[in-house]
Amino acid sequence: RKRVLSGIQPSGKLTLGNYIGAMKNYVALQEEAECFYMIVDLHAITVAQEPAALREQTESVAALFVAAGVDPKQASIFVQSHVPAHAELGWMMTTLSYMGELERMTQFKDKSEGKDAVGAGLFVYPSLMAADILLYKADLVPVGDDQKQHLELTRDLAGRFNHRFGDTLVVPEPFIPKVGARIMSLDDASKKMSKSSPNAGSFIALLDSPDDIRKKISRAKTDLGREVVYDPREKPEISNLLSIYSNCSGESIAEIQARYEGQGYGAFKKDLAERVVETLEPLQRKYAEIRASGAIHDILRDGAERANAVAEQTLREAKEAMGFLLPR
Ligand code: ATP
Ligand code: MG
Repeated sequence: RKRVLSGIQPSGKLTLGNYIGAMKNYVALQEEAECFYMIVDLHAITVAQEPAALREQTESVAALFVAAGVDPKQASIFVQSHVPAHAELGWMMTTLSYMGELERMTQFKDKSEGKDAVGAGLFVYPSLMAADILLYKADLVPVGDDQKQHLELTRDLAGRFNHRFGDTLVVPEPFIPKVGARIMSLDDASKKMSKSSPNAGSFIALLDSPDDIRKKISRAKTDLGREVVYDPREKPEISNLLSIYSNCSGESIAEIQARYEGQGYGAFKKDLAERVVETLEPLQRKYAEIRASGAIHDILRDGAERANAVAEQTLREAKEAMGFLLPR
């Protein structure tokens, strides 16, 4: 069986982008592969987090995984900081990373832009992400298109480690879905939808109420003209909404385009809101049940146990290869 590893930061309210770009694939992969899905709290603290909010969000993300259909019996759901090997191999990967390659990362550029004090953690984030993946010797890493560059670096670091210290780590393959690989922001289709955006109107949170969803979609930016056509260059805003529609309804873009021919944006947006509401309603119901049951702590304990078993083994191999004196 192939092994799969992926993670989401508890850095805000999960969005439709996280669902379409990551979680839907989590569910699709769990039958065929051995899956490890984690809540990456060590990554979340690369930008300032309020402690109570971080704790709540961590639990909330875990519950959302289950609500979205991840089965804790099939896949291991765990919190990154419950597996100390991440921080350790993360440091080892940092020492193998070059300043120049980290400086080229667009996420670092985006997240540090215009800030006068930028944490060093934000800079070395990709080295920790490499460790996350390499610890599990993952074959496949389902991520949104925004993480492609980090995955490329992970492949480079794994290759560099193996070249210097002998074959130890597995070079992972990215797994990026075709449609909906990148859901864009509702207020600006040149930026990806992001849960840490200060403008709540720019994203649809998975736990938004139906009325909020309708409001946000009706206010979503549109392009000039009135034709509902998929054309990412000329009509980026409408194309993004079409891609959301297609992901929620399961229909092809062509089918949807044909339905709204000659109808203008209004009718299209109204129906789109209903497709999103229908997609999120069952998820929200299940989320409420899981939170109320308190089962999440057992799920996370179980997940961490399985993750630790694999991660500790790889860490030992990597330490040995690098020349650490192991305790006897
Ligand atoms: P942050 O703004 O805090 O970075 P985020 O929304 O980018 O939040 P992450 O935790 O960084 O979320 O990413 C979790 C997963 O969701 C990753 O696999 C990422 O590729 C995917 N993802 C994030 N945003 C989008 C998006 N707009 N479209 C598709 N996939 C996305
Ligand atoms: Mg992100």
